[in-house]
Amino acid sequence: MAMHEKLLIQLNGRDCPGIFASVTALLKEHNAELTDIQQISSLGRLSLVVLVELPVLDILPLLRSLKQFCFSNGLHLDFEPADQERTAGSQYALTILSSRLRPESLTALGRALAQQQINIDRMYFLARSNLECLEMTVSMPLSGDGSFADIRKTVFEVATAYEFDAAVQQENLFRRSKRMIVMDMDSTLIRQEVIDEIADFAGVKNKVSEITERAMRGELDFNQALTERVALLKGLPVSELDKVIERITLTPGAEELIKVLKKMGFKIAIISGGFTHFAEHFRKKLGLDGAYANELEIQDGKLTGRVTGEIVNRERKAQILKEWAAREKIPLEQTVAVGDGANDLDMLKTAGLGVAFNAKPLVRSQSQAFINQAGLDVILYLLGLSEQEQRQMLYD
Ligand SMILES: [Mg+2]
Repeated sequence: MAMHEKLLIQLNGRDCPGIFASVTALLKEHNAELTDIQQISSLGRLSLVVLVELPVLDILPLLRSLKQFCFSNGLHLDFEPADQERTAGSQYALTILSSRLRPESLTALGRALAQQQINIDRMYFLARSNLECLEMTVSMPLSGDGSFADIRKTVFEVATAYEFDAAVQQENLFRRSKRMIVMDMDSTLIRQEVIDEIADFAGVKNKVSEITERAMRGELDFNQALTERVALLKGLPVSELDKVIERITLTPGAEELIKVLKKMGFKIAIISGGFTHFAEHFRKKLGLDGAYANELEIQDGKLTGRVTGEIVNRERKAQILKEWAAREKIPLEQTVAVGDGANDLDMLKTAGLGVAFNAKPLVRSQSQAFINQAGLDVILYLLGLSEQEQRQMLYD
């Protein structure tokens, strides 16, 4: 039997139809077996890489033919013996975004990745207008002992120093097939903290917002803080709650996000440490699948200053997500959670993708993604949707 050799061949240059067909025909003509092939055409330039195995005697004639083909088509030819198996380590998807991604930000990120021997396999702009968003697929060396936590830390440090937003996700089928999203309400889906608004009506605004602030910083036990704040609302007529609703505004991009996710078949719910009266209002208004929150106890049309049922706190939020996903038979890897406060942390960690939205540093540092943009629809980029795809979903 004739000796066989493995050869890695690369063609680069201006792309035009027919190159692939001509190259494969030449391979066949010279008895080369195709082992692997990858082709990318980007910005009008082609990169075609083929791994072949062929009889040693056929190598020179094949290269001669390819050289001639490349010469007459303005392409550049490279080849080398392929003696090593090329296997990639774990792959990650990095999404970085900002109103403008500065060259020095990209340099800093590139250096930080290189320092950890992380290779950039692919890079693609998802948006280049009001917002610049770059998606990268990177891979860890097989030999390295770097983990997901390391790569996230590296990327987040650069992102914080250079003021861009970032997400780090394991690159696999689940990243691209999310099916469920749960959102915190106060300061996430809506711009306000509802209890502060109610307190304003009840004339106890300062007392309540002081407790809220401390709770959001994680300094106060959530249940205690909630109980204390609700107690301050005792005697408030329920009719006042509807006046509060009129003062509440949705976060910019919330409706766009929900419209696109619905078209993609997502299950969508609010999981709030706030109150059912409001969560239900927005569930109906936005046509969502669920709303979970605390129930204010009412007697004779007035708040009693107590909540009924189990308090929706940090642990409960995560538990609700788990239970709902299980009921809908959706693996947690296919879920997304979005929130801004310390009481969202467990929920963000439980979801396949946890997004810290305009969040406190404590929350940011422990999530897979952080966004410091006004618009909630920016989350669509983290799911891999380009600006153009988002527009099509919104207006078609
Ligand atoms: Mg919140």
